[in-house]
Formats: sequence, C-alpha cells, structure tokens
Amino acid sequence: MRPRQCSARAEGVVGLVVVSHSRALARAAVGLAAEMIRGAAVPIEIAAGVDDTAFGTDAVAITEAVAAADRGDGVVVLMDLGSAVLSAELAVELLADDLRERVVLCAGPLVEGLLAAAVAAAGGAGRDEVAAEADAGLAGKQSQLGGPVAGAPDTGSGKGDGPSATVTVLNRHGLHARPAARLVTLARSFDAEVRVRNAETGSPWVPASSLSRIATLGVLHGHRMQVRASGPQARAAVEGIVALAGRAFDETEPAAEPEGPAAQGRAASPGIAIGPARHLSSAPLDIPDRPARGPAQEWQRIDDALASVRQDLAKLRAGAGSIFDAHLLLLDDADLLAEVRSRIDAGEAAPPAWAAATARVAGEFEALADPYLKARAADVRAVADQMLRALLGVPAAVTRGSGVLIAADLTPAEAAALDPGQVAGVLLAFGSPTAHSVILLRTRGIPAVVGAGPAALEVADGTPVALDGSTGEVLVAPSEAALAALRERARGQAARREQAAGRASAPAVTRDGVPVAVGANVGSAAEARAAAEHGADLIGLIRTEFLFLDRDAAPGVEEQEAAWREIAQALGGRRITVRTLDVGGDKPLRYLPAPVEQNPFLGVRGLRYTLRHPGLLADQLLAVVRVARDVPVSLMFPMVSTVDEVVHARRMLDEAVARQGGGEPAGLRVGIMVEVPAAALKAAAFAPYVDFMSIGTNDLTQYALAAERGNPALAALADGLDPGVLRLIEAVCRGVGERVTVAVCGELAGDEAAVPLLTGLGVRELSVAPRSVPAVKEAVRATDLATAAATTRVALEMPDAAAVRALPRRGTANEC
Ligand code: PEP
Ligand code: MG
Repeated sequence: MRPRQCSARAEGVVGLVVVSHSRALARAAVGLAAEMIRGAAVPIEIAAGVDDTAFGTDAVAITEAVAAADRGDGVVVLMDLGSAVLSAELAVELLADDLRERVVLCAGPLVEGLLAAAVAAAGGAGRDEVAAEADAGLAGKQSQLGGPVAGAPDTGSGKGDGPSATVTVLNRHGLHARPAARLVTLARSFDAEVRVRNAETGSPWVPASSLSRIATLGVLHGHRMQVRASGPQARAAVEGIVALAGRAFDETEPAAEPEGPAAQGRAASPGIAIGPARHLSSAPLDIPDRPARGPAQEWQRIDDALASVRQDLAKLRAGAGSIFDAHLLLLDDADLLAEVRSRIDAGEAAPPAWAAATARVAGEFEALADPYLKARAADVRAVADQMLRALLGVPAAVTRGSGVLIAADLTPAEAAALDPGQVAGVLLAFGSPTAHSVILLRTRGIPAVVGAGPAALEVADGTPVALDGSTGEVLVAPSEAALAALRERARGQAARREQAAGRASAPAVTRDGVPVAVGANVGSAAEARAAAEHGADLIGLIRTEFLFLDRDAAPGVEEQEAAWREIAQALGGRRITVRTLDVGGDKPLRYLPAPVEQNPFLGVRGLRYTLRHPGLLADQLLAVVRVARDVPVSLMFPMVSTVDEVVHARRMLDEAVARQGGGEPAGLRVGIMVEVPAAALKAAAFAPYVDFMSIGTNDLTQYALAAERGNPALAALADGLDPGVLRLIEAVCRGVGERVTVAVCGELAGDEAAVPLLTGLGVRELSVAPRSVPAVKEAVRATDLATAAATTRVALEMPDAAAVRALPRRGTANEC
C-alpha cells in the first residue's frame, strides 16, 4: 500500500507530492512545511520508502499520491534523488492524459523547495508559481553563504507611487522561515503587488509573495525592512504588514533579549494589559458572631460549601494535575469533619466550627519537626480559607496595588468583585474562555488570557507582565523593544475602538448590503444600560438567573415584571429577549432542591428543569406576557432537546396569555436556544413552532466536543470554531430556511474572527457582551458575505478549530 500523508482537504489549491527514498525523511519534511502554513488547506501527499524503515521509491505509489493531491489546479512533485526522479518520471507516464498535463516535476531541493512551495500554495499561487518557488528554494541559503543566488535577480526598484512603510523586525532570530511565511501568507491575501527590502543592508527589492526570495534579504533582529505596494489593495497590504511586524509576525517567543519567558495562553477577553504581577492575597476573613440556626441547617451549610469547593478544586486539579490532590483529600478528612460535626452539634455555627477545627489541624502540622510535613500546614490553611469564603460568600480576589492579576482560576463572585481601576488585566493559569467568570471579565472590559499553565503562578509579585487578551500572548519581564511594540499595538487597538465607538449606534450592514443585528447579553439592568451605551440593537439574551440565585425564595411575578421592564427601559423600546430560567443540576436553587446528579451538565437543566417546576415557569411566562404588552419581547427556552418540550412550553405560554387576558401581545416572538447537538440537527422539525432560534455556542460546543465548558484542561478543545460545531450551526441555518431568524448568543458571537464565518453560514443576529457590540458591528461591516461563504466552505473541511483560526480571513476588509 502506498503510504499517505493525510492533510486538510481543500478545493482550488495546488497539491504537493513528496517523493523520497525515506518515509521518515518525507514525513519530517511535511511536518516542517505544516509548521510554516499553520493548518492551511494545502493537500500534501507522500510517496516514500517501501515501508516505515526500508528505503525505496515506487512509481505506482507516486501516481496514487498525485491523484490524491490533485484538486484540479495542478500538482507539483518534489523528489530527492536518483531513482526517486526516475520513478516520478515513470509515474507521470502512467497518469491519465488530463491529469498528466497538470503535473510538474520540480528540480528544486526537497526540504527547502517543499517549504517554499507549501507557503506559496497556501497563499493561492498557481501551479507554475508554486514550482518556481520550489525551484528557488536554495536562494536564501546561497545568499547567506555568499554564492550565486538561484531565481530571477531582477525584482524591480521598488520605487513608484504606491504606499510604503518601514518596519523594524523585533523577532529574536530575525525574519527566519516561520515569520517570513506569515509575511508571505499575508502579502498574498491582498489584491496588491507587495515588495520588501532590507533597508539595513541596502538589499534589492524582492516580492513579498516569495518565501525563497525573502530568505535572501538576511533580515536580522532589529533590522529595518521597507515595504512598498501597488494595486487596488496596496494601502491595506502595507497597513496589514506594519501591524504584522508590530505583532512580531505572530511569533509567540519574546522579541528580544534580555527578558523573561513568553507564554501562550488562550485569548479570553480583548485588550492589552501591562503592569506588575499581582497575586491574589487573602485578606483576613471576618467571621461574624451570628447565632447558629440549629445543627441540621449548619451542617447543611458545611455540606453545600464542601460540594462547591470540591467542584472548584476538581476543576483546578484537572488542569494542574496533582497540585490540588492534598486539598481535595483534606475535604474528606474524617477526623477533621468529625470535629466540625461535634462543634456544630454542641451549638456552634458552621463558620466558627470550621475555622476552629482547621486551625487545630494546621497547628498540629506546624508543630512537626519534618520540614515537608510542617509545610502541609499551608495546605490546610488554604483549604480552610477557601471553605470559609464559600460559607460566607466572600470572594478571595483581593489584590493589593494595581497591575496584572495572576491566579489559578477565578470564581464568578471573584471576577465580579475585581476593581477595573486596579486590575489592568487578568492572567489565569487555568480557566476557560466560556466559563461564567471569564464571561464576566469580558462584560466588565478587563483584558484576560486563560490557560497559561501553572508556571504563571510562579511569576513573582511585582514582575512586569504584559498580555494581549485578543491573541493569548503573555510576556513576562518583557524587553523595552517588545514593550514598545505592544504599546504600539495597544494604540492601534484604541484607535480602532474609538472608530468603532463613533458609529456603534448605526446598524451593522455587510459590504454587500445585508443587515446583521448586533445585540447584547445581559444579566442585570446595569448591564442593559451599558448595552444601550455601546449601541446594542437589542438585548439578545437576558440571563434571568440573576434574579433567582442567592436568595431563599423565588421572585414573584411583579418582581420579575419590574426587572424586565427596567431592562427594556434602558433599551428605549428596542427588543429584549427574555430567556426562561436556566438553572439545574450544576446551578441548584436553594429553595427548590434538585436530586444530586452524576452528570449535572447532562441532567435536569434549563427547560427540562422549569417544565418539572410548572409553578415557577408559569409565573415567569406571566411576567413576560405583561411586559410584552408594552415593548417588543422575544421569549426563549434554553436547553431544548425535543419538539415535545417546545409544544408543552408553548401550551403554558397560551395559558399565561389567557390568565392575563387581552390575547397574545403583538410584539411577542417565541424561540428556542439551540444548545443540544440533536436539536441543531433537527432544526427543521422545530421551525413550525418558533419565530427564531438562538444558538448557545457555549453549551453547544461542550456537548458537541464532549468537553465540559468550565474544565480548564479542555479549554483548547472546547473552541466554538471547531468545524464540528460550525457544521451544527450550518445544519440549523439550512434546516430552518428564511422564515426563522437564526441568532448566535454564545461567546463565539463576540469573537471577531468568527463573525465572517457565522454570517457566511446564514446567521443574521449576534448577541455579545455589551462592550463587544461596537467591535462586532465593525467586523460585520468588514464582511463580504459571498467571499465569507466561500471561506466558510473551506472552514467546514478543516480538521480542527486551530486550522480554522489559521485560515486567511478572506471576506473581510482587513484580510489577515
Ligand atoms: C450558551 O450556552 O451559549 C449560552 C448563551 O448560555 P449560557 O452561557 O448562559 O449557558
Ligand atoms: Mg447555555
């Protein structure tokens, strides 16, 4: 059997075939090429070796590889030497006539040629250009070593009327292969002819579309490089390259010495933060002197707190391995719990009973001679503190001094308590972009990077730290050059933010004239006011839970009505979308205890929960009907799996309308959230029962990828741009047709990189954190739907979210 290298399938690109005596050599070369093109859709096939270890070439295997690599735009074959060339020639003879005409055997060097060819093919070059790039693959090395250089030397003067700029290359190793590949990919994505030269050495101008020619420039760290472009998108090309150079050509390593390590976390909340590292400090807790409410109730408080701390620790443990094992064990320590119980039975309240028992255990560890065991006292105190905070509802996120807050993870309460005046940004060792705590950071406009790894916790307090919440980059003790580049980037972002804010209240219309509503997700009237200030066209999601949690009884109809009216008032009569209560196994209500479930995320949540508590749902529907008499209201049900559930819920809505009297309010629209993959695939079956569907990509992603949304160990996997999730979104848009509006209200809607893909699939409403509204509107305005739809088709064929994110963003004005 011919060995094959599986690569992303794509339409309309030149394919590559690697013919070598050694399969290991061919695989390694393809690995290097993949690194250059970061998941772009270039079909690369291997025909190499007799098997994994024996050397040899086989003409039949080569014909199969050529056929597999061919997408209709031609195939370039790279070979090592001797019989590889003979076998490739024979293979060409064996091909069918039409395919043979599309194949070029390339004399270029195998490794360098393959890299240059892959970058050119990824940038959309035609077959002959790809082959020419491969042929000139040795140019960089020849130039470096002072020999004659392959390829055409005459590349023009670079003079002319086109826009130009000079950038300084910040990368530690200069413009080596990877950053050069980024430059080529970007230059090729514009309708422009772009040339560059090394101003430092006075080199000739070379085309920025050629990796092999750029390699001849010898651009080192700190060198100034001139860029000049001509053609319809010349200005955008030059600006894009200036921005790319400012981002150190998207290399994550630190830009220059001396400086500390760089890390790559996950982009979680946009914005650049620079400041001294600040770790959470545990301010002493005040244990209030309140009388106990009786042993049963006090023990219940301990039980609840134990469950919540266990859950938090389990999440941290999933990301950090055994660090938190000792903490988890302490929560089950029979001796400790027996003492807490006997103190409670003797009349103490839960907090002092817990504090006294844990202080005793910590004291015992401290008294031991063995330094390891002595140090366990710190573990006991940490758990004791965490439990007390859970018991008293006091967040731990107390920082002293302003700067970049570093923590393992944050609870929603801690995220809510942060002072944006003090906290320039948040760096989490673990955490996930769709966790509710991180959603809160985004809502509050605090830049954040999550999943940076346990090493982040070791950064000493006061060490200068910089992060970019849009890219996930983190720099520890950055050099002056890197800081200057980051500040420049921050200025660029601020300018773009200002421009977006200036037209935030105008409708967002794509370049080809299709309006896309951009709404806001809110959980309070204050957030609704922020949404209005940031130009939201509507409220696309009210998380009504905020009114139901942390209290001893459910709010009545009047209280709910007043709350939705206050939100509607902030929006000045624009549409609001009320989601019925979305609680359940993972978010239990104190006053309506639910049975403990093995898998709460797969349990009685959302609409499943409220249908089992009809009194609760009936009150909520009545409040909605009352408000809908005066303002346009969309009502939506979360966590829907079957049509039956919707029919049942709609029947209860009819009852609420009858209870209120006066018929169904004219502006009332009814919809469902699509969060369950089965519901996405059955979208057509729901269409007759709904006016709209709003896709909750946070939950849809966790269910589609079987990756719990709050689990930091799976944060990279749970990315809504995974093609599996995109296919579900496509299924919804295709399934419901024109009559039913499709919205997205999960966090993916606020990801600017996702906007062309979602709208390309047919989504016509996006609901995002209030502060993200202006930027998302700008992303819509930059989108050309016809081109975006083509990119979307490619995205659906990609293997994973990383490959989708690496696609050049065609279909947007700022293609990059
Ligand atoms: C979602 O799941 O995408 C969503 C918007 O709902 P929540 O984040 O409140 O679960
Ligand atoms: Mg949800």
